[in-house]
Amino acid sequence: MIEARDFIRTRVIADIDGGKHDSIVTRFPPEPNGYLHIGHAKSICLNFGLAEEAATHPGSAGACNLRFDDTNPEKESQEYIDAIQRDVHWLGFDWAGEIRYASNYFQQLHDFAVELIRAGKAYVDSQTPEQIREGRGTLSQPGANSPHRARTVEENLELFARMKAGEFADGAHVLRAKIDMASGNINLRDPILYRIRKITHHQTGDDWCIYPMYDYTHPISDALEGITHSLCTLEFEDHRPLYDWLLDQLPSLPHPQQIEFSRLNLNYTVTSKRKLKQLVDEQLVQGWDDPRMPTIAGLRRRGYTPESIRAFCDKVGISKTEGISDVSLLEFCIREHLESTAPRAMAVLRPLKVVLTNLADDHHEVITAVRHPNADMGERALPLTREIYIDREDFTETPPKGWKRLVPGGEVRLRNAYVMRCDEVIRDAAGEVVELRGVLDLDTLGANPVDRKVKGVIHWVSASHSLPAEIRLYDRLFSDPAPDRGDADFKSCINPDSLRVLAEARVEPSLAAAVAEERFQFEREGYFCVDLKDSTPQRLVFNRTVGLRDSWGK
Ligand code: ATP
Ligand code: MG
Ligand code: MG
Repeated sequence: MIEARDFIRTRVIADIDGGKHDSIVTRFPPEPNGYLHIGHAKSICLNFGLAEEAATHPGSAGACNLRFDDTNPEKESQEYIDAIQRDVHWLGFDWAGEIRYASNYFQQLHDFAVELIRAGKAYVDSQTPEQIREGRGTLSQPGANSPHRARTVEENLELFARMKAGEFADGAHVLRAKIDMASGNINLRDPILYRIRKITHHQTGDDWCIYPMYDYTHPISDALEGITHSLCTLEFEDHRPLYDWLLDQLPSLPHPQQIEFSRLNLNYTVTSKRKLKQLVDEQLVQGWDDPRMPTIAGLRRRGYTPESIRAFCDKVGISKTEGISDVSLLEFCIREHLESTAPRAMAVLRPLKVVLTNLADDHHEVITAVRHPNADMGERALPLTREIYIDREDFTETPPKGWKRLVPGGEVRLRNAYVMRCDEVIRDAAGEVVELRGVLDLDTLGANPVDRKVKGVIHWVSASHSLPAEIRLYDRLFSDPAPDRGDADFKSCINPDSLRVLAEARVEPSLAAAVAEERFQFEREGYFCVDLKDSTPQRLVFNRTVGLRDSWGK
């Protein structure tokens, strides 16, 4: 059922109630020239989400197509086509019927172009690209008619046929709509409909050497698929008159309604495939699915859940107001989802050995702890031995004010276990602390000491039973809140500390069975997931998704 949550849904409900449509058909039309990013997620949630809602709305059916907008073969590839399908599915959506390609319609698009020529609404222009650009004029200056604008229908039909037959070189001619070179809307100043590109297409091979332009292809593809509402971002508002003009010239086709909404922008992030591709091509990140990338594949590898991304898109909402969303809202959404779903575990990121001298050499006690505050998620076994590891950062000999963790002579609770006291600090020749020695208070398992208060709690693992792990701490890729703004090279504000690798970490043995993409809360550290590509049972690799609380800049 559709709820009137935003102006688009309100309008769609009115179209159903008013009898204009009894079936709502939307489409998500990516160009396969890169991986999908968080901005695309907004469009996916809107188009697929609206169709799902329409399907259960009284008096309506609903469907959403996935259509590859593949009119620029030189920038497109099968890798991107595959990745886009994977990402849409991963987000939890499915398209109606077969995958569509704009290239499926190349023959029809060609035939409609011939129809436009016959009706005197399109002509072949043979000016150079520079002449065409100049002839278009500017916002304050009308364009000038091309000297070829007056060509006869016969001449245009013949030239267009010869363009199609491959008789001319790239750039020699284009097909233009004949609209109005003085229009206040530059998009209506005889826009180009077709250009010659002698290049093999990933779907149609060498069948074509003329390719239709996006602005020509999109309305006709929408119409051919019976799209009712063609939802796009605000920069296409100025193109809507062309969208409508084209369909008005082709009365045999239905006429979908284009509606624009504002793009998703995110601070500390770039959301442009072109820029993301530069990061990949220049190896500033390790591929499109690098966990620092705002791509769906990167967010997935970072440990984001589909639910969290959908919740984020919901919170951002749909409007016509351009704004910049705060990346901490995205982080809030994943924290909120993982708080209730991710099992707890202990991982020591920077191990420091502690010998518990009041335990026997072969001491092996198994403590049970809940996997999650929600007891339904069961228990885990925590072996406790004479030698354990704690995190180096949980010990200091020079405590700052308010320090609650371990100091020489001080006490802390080992999380899920006993209170321990540090009695001795062992150093190597260089003076570095390499080991602590201390004792457990064996009366304190699940009980407070009766005669004193112990405030600090630290996590730990058994030295002999824990597993080695590599832990990758990710941070924001850009240190500037607006890396995308202005002329400065967006790559100049890459955060040099966006990845820190802790190769010597130790994790509790219950994680031996962890599988790729499984997510955990490492107690006191944050949310982590098993890396999809690099983790093996012999050497676990965990990616930090997000810290436990918003600590950026603090
Ligand atoms: P980019 O500028 O990153 O290349 P694009 O708009 O060229 O994006 P497309 O593949 O054409 O990428 O996008 C497919 C759909 O996703 C389009 O309908 C587009 O409007 C929408 N989309 C792309 N980026 C955003 C965004 N930041 N916010 C909302 N929708 C977006
Ligand atoms: Mg586009
Ligand atoms: Mg683009």
